[in-house]
Amino acid sequence: MRIKMILKFPKAITNTPITYDLIKKYDLRINILKADINYKLEGYLVFDIDGNSKKIAEALSYLEDEGVHADLITNTITIDQKTCVNCGICTGSCTVRALNMDRENWTLNYIEERCVGCNRCVDACPTRSIQNTAW
Ligand code: SF4
Ligand code: SF4
Repeated sequence: MRIKMILKFPKAITNTPITYDLIKKYDLRINILKADINYKLEGYLVFDIDGNSKKIAEALSYLEDEGVHADLITNTITIDQKTCVNCGICTGSCTVRALNMDRENWTLNYIEERCVGCNRCVDACPTRSIQNTAW
């Protein structure tokens, strides 16, 4: 089972080794896509989790007990190839590099596994070619 999540940490637990615990206690494979953790300030972490579904459920309970707010990310985008002009403007808005340009033929690439559904590219596209399918 593979899911994408965003965790929001209250400042009281920003020094707790949450990621380490998820890996060691629940045998999960974690791929961090984006992180912003500041000691004694709020933080957040976006990652892919891959592992046994029972272990993931146990890990979610653990996160709740620790006071970590966990949201499943299900939002992904679609790009209308009929209206996209491959200008590349949207790539500058994607901080997790889910959008990039193929430099050989100058076409837009979208890597869905990296997308966190933030919608920045939707607003950035001048031709309105990007839609978030969940919004
Ligand atoms: S900004 Fe819009 S038109 Fe330009 S490459 Fe991205 S999706 Fe295509
Ligand atoms: S919604 Fe757009 S900007 Fe946000 S992560 Fe996905 S591709 Fe990147």
